[in-house]
Amino acid sequence: MKKICVAKNLLVTSFIILSLCLPSISQAKSIALSFDDGLDPRSQPMASSWNSSILEALSKAQIKSILFPAGKRIDSPAGLNLVRDWGKAGHAVANHTYSHLNFCSEQVTLEQFIADTEKNETLLKNMPGWTKRLRFPYLKEGETVLKRDGFRNWLMNHGYKSGAVSIDASDWYYNIRFLEWVKNYPDEDLSSFRIAYLDHLWARTIYYDSLSEQVLKRSIKHVLLLHTKAINAEFLPDIIAMYRSKGWEIISPEEAYEDPVYSIAPTKLPAGESILWSLAKQYGVNGLRYPAESDVYEKPLLDNLGL
Ligand SMILES: [Zn+2]
Repeated sequence: MKKICVAKNLLVTSFIILSLCLPSISQAKSIALSFDDGLDPRSQPMASSWNSSILEALSKAQIKSILFPAGKRIDSPAGLNLVRDWGKAGHAVANHTYSHLNFCSEQVTLEQFIADTEKNETLLKNMPGWTKRLRFPYLKEGETVLKRDGFRNWLMNHGYKSGAVSIDASDWYYNIRFLEWVKNYPDEDLSSFRIAYLDHLWARTIYYDSLSEQVLKRSIKHVLLLHTKAINAEFLPDIIAMYRSKGWEIISPEEAYEDPVYSIAPTKLPAGESILWSLAKQYGVNGLRYPAESDVYEKPLLDNLGL
C-alpha cells in the first residue's frame, strides 16, 4: 500500500513539475501591474491627485490592475473613496491587512495576523472590485512552520487566492529620493530621474525573469509590485511605454495569477519575498542577495547619479 502511495505521489509531483516547465504558448513575455498600500488624504495632501494620475494612466493604456490597500491608511471617508475609484474603474481591490504588520516578526502571532486580515476584509468587502487575494505586508509570510502553514490554511479555508509578487523592486525608496529631489530642484527637467527609475524597474524585471528561467525553465506571467506613490503618479505612463517598447505584454492580474507558479507553496523559512526568489532559494540557486531588494543597493546608485 505504501509503495503504491509513493508511486502515485511521484507521478503527481512529476506532472506538476512538467506542467510548470512547459514553455509559454505565446512568445511575448507578460506582466501585470499591482499597487500596494493606498493613499491617506488625512496625511497626504496630494493623495487625490496621485490616485487620479495613476488611474488615468491605466485607463489611457487600457490596463486592468489590482490595488491592495492597508486599512490603516485608507480608513477614512475620503480614503475609502479613493479606493472605490479603483473598483469603479474596473480594477480589483484586495487585502493587504489592516495594520501592515510584519508577519515574520516574533512579536506578531498567527491569531493577531488573522484578526488583522479579517479587520481589513470587513472594511473592504463591499467595495466594487473586491477580490479575495492577500498581499503580505513587506512580502513576509511567517518565520515558523506554525505561523506559515497556519495562515496558509486560513487563507485556503476562507477562499483566498494568491496575491504573490514575482518581480519585487524598490519603488518606495526611489519615491523618497524623488520627492527630495523635486523639492531641492523644483525647476529641473524630470528626465534624468525618469531614466534612473525606469532603469531600476527594468533591471529588477530582467533579474526576476532570469530567476524564472533558471528555476522553472520558462518565463512566467509576472506580477510587478508597485506602490500608490508620487513617483508612479508621475511616471506610470513611461513605465507602461517601456514594457511595451521592449515587446512585453501588459496583462490583467487575474490573467497573470492563472500561471501555475502562483499555486506553489514554497517551503523555505522564513517564508515570503518574491515567489521566484523564494523558489530559487528553495532550489539552491547560487548568488541570491538578502534582502532581495533594499535601499542599501539603490542608495549608492542614486548618490552616484547626483539624484
Ligand atoms: Zn505594503
